[in-house]
Amino acid sequence: MSDQHPPRILVVDDSRSVREEIKEILRAARPDAVFHEAENGLEGFKLLMEHPVDLVLCDLVMPEMDGLKFLQMRSSRPALQAVPVIMLTAVGDVDQKVRILSAGAGDYVTKPFHPGELVARATVHLNTKLLQDELKQKNELLLALSTTDSLTRIYNRRHFLEVARKEFERCDRLDLVASLMIFDIDHFKSVNDNLGHHVGDEVLVAICNLVQQSLRDYDVFGRYGGDEFTLLFPQTEAAEALAIGSRIGMEVGAMRLDALMGATVTVSGGVSARVNASDTLETVLKAADHALYEAKRHGRGRVIAS
Ligand code: GH3
Ligand code: MG
Repeated sequence: MSDQHPPRILVVDDSRSVREEIKEILRAARPDAVFHEAENGLEGFKLLMEHPVDLVLCDLVMPEMDGLKFLQMRSSRPALQAVPVIMLTAVGDVDQKVRILSAGAGDYVTKPFHPGELVARATVHLNTKLLQDELKQKNELLLALSTTDSLTRIYNRRHFLEVARKEFERCDRLDLVASLMIFDIDHFKSVNDNLGHHVGDEVLVAICNLVQQSLRDYDVFGRYGGDEFTLLFPQTEAAEALAIGSRIGMEVGAMRLDALMGATVTVSGGVSARVNASDTLETVLKAADHALYEAKRHGRGRVIAS
C-alpha cells in the first residue's frame, strides 16, 4: 500500500463484529489506516459525501439500504466514482457477483474472508486510487501551467483569446455587448535599462496584482505579450470600459514600489467595444490596438476609446 498519506477506508456492514474483523485485518497490514464505519448503505453514502475516502468495503446484504443501492447512489455523484468499492458477498453466487461488478463495484471479496486475500485486494485498489489521485493533480497543474503566464500568474495570450472567443460567441447568441482593452507600459524598456530586468519583472507583477484587485469577478485579464496586457469586460459598453481603464491607468500611475527608487510608471490603453455581430474578436482587438497606438502617439499615460 502507498505510504504517501494514511489510507482512509470506509467500512459499511450492519454487523459490528464483521466491521471489527475487517479493521483488524487491514490494520495489521496498514497500522496507519484511518477508518470510517457505517451500519447501512445510507449511512455509508452520507459518510462518503462528508469525508475524503480512498476505499470502501461494503456488505451486500444489509437492512435499510443494501450494497447495490449504495452503488446506485454513488453512481449518481461523478465525484465519488473515483472511490473504489469492494463488495463483501456470500460464496458461490456468480450471478450476484456479475450484478455487483456491473453496478460499479471495483471488486468483491467472499465471506468468510481470507485475511491475505482481503489485504491483497484492498492494496491493489488503494494503489490504483493513489495513482489516479496523482494523475488528477498533475493534470490540474498542467492545465494551470498551460493557461497562465509563469511570471504574473494571469492568463496567457492563448488562454485569454480562447476565453474571449467564447465570450464573443455568447455575445453573438444573446446579442450582448462587450468591451476590450489593450494596455501597454510606457517606456518600460527604460525601467529595465535603468534599474535592471529584475525590477522590470517586479513592476509587471505589481501592475498585474493591482489591476486584478480592481476587476470584477467576470472580467478577464491576460498578458498579451511582453509589457502588453488585455482586458475583456463582458456586458460592458465602451464608455464604461473607458472609465474602468482610465481608473486602472490612474491607479498604476499612483503605485509606489521601493524597487522603483521613487520613479513611477504609467500605462497607455486602447478600448473598443463589440456592439453587433459584424464586430469579431479580431476586428475589436485591432480597433483597441489602434486606439492604444493613438494613446501612445498623443503623449502616453492615457486611455483612448476607438
Ligand atoms: P512604449 O512606451 O512605446 O511602450 O515603450 P517601451 O519601452 O515600453 O516599449 P518597447 O516595446 O520598446 O519595450 C518593451 C519592453 O518590455 C522591452 C522588453 O525588454 C520588456 N519586457 C518584455 N517582457 C518582459 C519581461 O518579462 N520582464 C521584463 N523585465 N521586461 C520585459
Ligand atoms: Mg511598452
